[in-house]
Amino acid sequence: MNMDYEVLLYYKYTTIEDPEIFAQEHLAFCKALGLKGRILVAKEGINGTVSGLKEATAAYQQALEADPRFAGIIFKVDEAEGHAFKKMFVRPRQEIVSLKLAEDLDPNDTTGSYLSPQDFKAALLDEHTVVIDARNDYEYDLGHFRGAVRPDIRNFRELPQWIRDHKDEFMEKRVVTYCTGGIRCEKFSGWLVKEGFKDVGQLSGGIATYGKDPQVRGELWDGMMYVFDERVSVEINHVDKQVVGRDWFDGTPCERYINCSNPECNRRILASAENEAKYLGACSDECRNHPRNRYVKAAQ
Ligand SMILES: [Zn+2]
Repeated sequence: MNMDYEVLLYYKYTTIEDPEIFAQEHLAFCKALGLKGRILVAKEGINGTVSGLKEATAAYQQALEADPRFAGIIFKVDEAEGHAFKKMFVRPRQEIVSLKLAEDLDPNDTTGSYLSPQDFKAALLDEHTVVIDARNDYEYDLGHFRGAVRPDIRNFRELPQWIRDHKDEFMEKRVVTYCTGGIRCEKFSGWLVKEGFKDVGQLSGGIATYGKDPQVRGELWDGMMYVFDERVSVEINHVDKQVVGRDWFDGTPCERYINCSNPECNRRILASAENEAKYLGACSDECRNHPRNRYVKAAQ
């Protein structure tokens, strides 16, 4: 295997005055380097994943580090055999993570305390701490920290309401939260502080950092980590990995994701190739019989 490429995962809450213009210039810069990926920019900062040859990703990192707006930005770096995306997008948005709060907050002003991988591991083992997964249900189902709470949400912006509905269970406890690279927790833990939770922590650098830490080596993580690129999932636990994903159809151990074949549903589910064929790639009878079912159309 030739690992000539790298995948960079990064974000920074900072002020970008004109996201539209920044996005145009940044897209041209990324394309000139031969990068592919998906970057969101907003007045509140930048959130990206890009892939490219190692010389290109190194040049990209240096350029951002040299820009005072991105001083201190942290890149999580994975080696790869090739690109993790087909195209290069830089999109201006209202937010770099979509939480859509009635009253938006700046994590540079309000956020939970940052926990190192070692401190986070201790929190996982502490019975007086509640660890809440800040990701979506389908991400949790492929892999998560042992004993973490699974909010029943399919989208990040549903999380605040879910917490309000379950407030009595967590209010008096120490609450620690985690997500893929740390960006969602910066805002979510800040929201928890504003909501009146007294002791709020977050895993600094997210699961990606935890998996690379030479001391914890991903221990107490079960399954794989879902990622939003063509790799779909990456390894985290380098000590005692266990499969926790379960096939949507028969409940057997499974780490293979498909999208429901009804384009109007598109739900992420785990399924073996065998069951995908057997159930026409659909999450329900309704989706199986949908007139636009992709699986049926492809077979015709
Ligand atoms: Zn469906």
